[in-house]
Amino acid sequence: MKKNFLIPILLGATAALSLSACNDDISENPLQQEQQTDNLKIDQPNALEKVCYYVDQYWSSNSVLTTSLQNSADTSFMNSQMTKIASLWGRSNPTLRFVNDPSNFNSTYNAISYSTGKIYYGYAIYYDAKNKGGDIVNAMILAHEYGHQLQYIFGLPSVSESTARPNELEADGFAGYYLRRPNGYNQTSFAQIAAAYEFAQSIGDYQTTSSGHHGTPPQRRSAVRLGFLLGQYDLTASAFDYNFFYYYQGVLNGAYKMGKNTQYPEIDAYMSQYMDELRKIQSGEISGEEFKELK
Ligand SMILES: [Zn+2]
Repeated sequence: MKKNFLIPILLGATAALSLSACNDDISENPLQQEQQTDNLKIDQPNALEKVCYYVDQYWSSNSVLTTSLQNSADTSFMNSQMTKIASLWGRSNPTLRFVNDPSNFNSTYNAISYSTGKIYYGYAIYYDAKNKGGDIVNAMILAHEYGHQLQYIFGLPSVSESTARPNELEADGFAGYYLRRPNGYNQTSFAQIAAAYEFAQSIGDYQTTSSGHHGTPPQRRSAVRLGFLLGQYDLTASAFDYNFFYYYQGVLNGAYKMGKNTQYPEIDAYMSQYMDELRKIQSGEISGEEFKELK
């Protein structure tokens, strides 16, 4: 098992140094051909060599790329989820592939969203997630990874920090949104997605100064909740981004904006009912058990 259960985004590299570092690192990897097609669409300020190295570390040199999981039911579940997630945002499917390492199963404990329109999903994280919380956990991880595709496509997130945190928390938010939408995973109560956000929380980290920081566990939990609440509305990716970051400070430190969200007054009226709750999630005043009972 890896030291951190992170789900990193392969950030589009801007510097030639970063690019060559990625390519060098992966040169003995069967994924090399895929990597060479990299044609980065947007610049991501957080592109650091470390991120590339980190990804390379997870897809070991013995990894193989495949179109299927261990059985056809799992494969069709994931492919159908991929279609549902992409079509929710009015998009055609990205390329979804699975990664297996027969010699070291746990080395594939990862899922990666590439700026070239591909999502690579490790066998190990798939089966661990399924064992821990069932299908919904993998639906959420896939929706999180697709959230990164939306970021590549639309030049999001609109907020940048010195770490990957805004990218990652927004991706958690996109996932919470997907789980709620009627034309998404269609879960009407928050308790129904408990397994999913518990998993998201479990992979939060406290490496707050690391470039790969994904947000602390309470922040990730709050981000999923915020995305779920925004799932009350049919939003474009950019509108989701606007609203997510309008309330983002509350996810980070419980300081929700009290001013009016004049661009989306209806959403603001709805969200105002949840300000105190969101603050308490972040501060820990709402316990893990109480959190599961939220509507
Ligand atoms: Zn991510």
